[in-house]
Amino acid sequence: MNISVFCGASRPSNTQYIAAATLLGKSLAREGHTLLYGGSNLGLMGVVSSAALEEGGHVVGVIPSFFSEEIIQSQPVSELVRVASMAERKEYLIAHSDAFVALPGGIGTLDEAFEVMVANQLGLSQKPLGLLDTNHFYQHLMAQLEHMEKEGFYNLTHAKYLILEEQPDRLLQRLTDFKPDPDRGHVAQRLRHKS
Ligand code: AMP
Repeated sequence: MNISVFCGASRPSNTQYIAAATLLGKSLAREGHTLLYGGSNLGLMGVVSSAALEEGGHVVGVIPSFFSEEIIQSQPVSELVRVASMAERKEYLIAHSDAFVALPGGIGTLDEAFEVMVANQLGLSQKPLGLLDTNHFYQHLMAQLEHMEKEGFYNLTHAKYLILEEQPDRLLQRLTDFKPDPDRGHVAQRLRHKS
């Protein structure tokens, strides 16, 4: 499978996150998946990419051309795709991936994860998003989603595309096993006909 990984461009002081990113990168490569990611060597992005490459994996970096050449060239990758903007990068990653993983990260990571969640909510895609719950990192987000449902702004049935898992190996297995809902395509069609 082609799997996009979203993750922090910062290097956290808690080494649990670095260990988890390393394990995920290695497992991805060992299982023969292609890793797509943001392209640079910054923070966890560099960690996951280097781990996959060291294990002989195929890594595609997708990076907007407004970044400096120093950042663009900072990480050796199997393929480098230059795009015009952050929006185009998200579009590219979503179109070319079968599944997604959000490692712990900041608002850039959440922006990318939410793009996937919204596309699934609208029925525009039906691709699973794994949240790697290292150190219970995503428990606050899950609590926020529950709060949004309680207040009537979100329907937790859409969370069926979310896979929350602490172990990188198990997360990849669950993404591989994920089966899309055969009825969901009709939702996208109905929405498109309305517009
Ligand atoms: P953040 O979670 O805020 O650290 O942002 C990380 C996410 O945003 C990554 O998955 C990248 O796709 C993107 N991103 C943020 N900063 C950079 C950067 N300097 N170079 C490449 N991608 C970045």
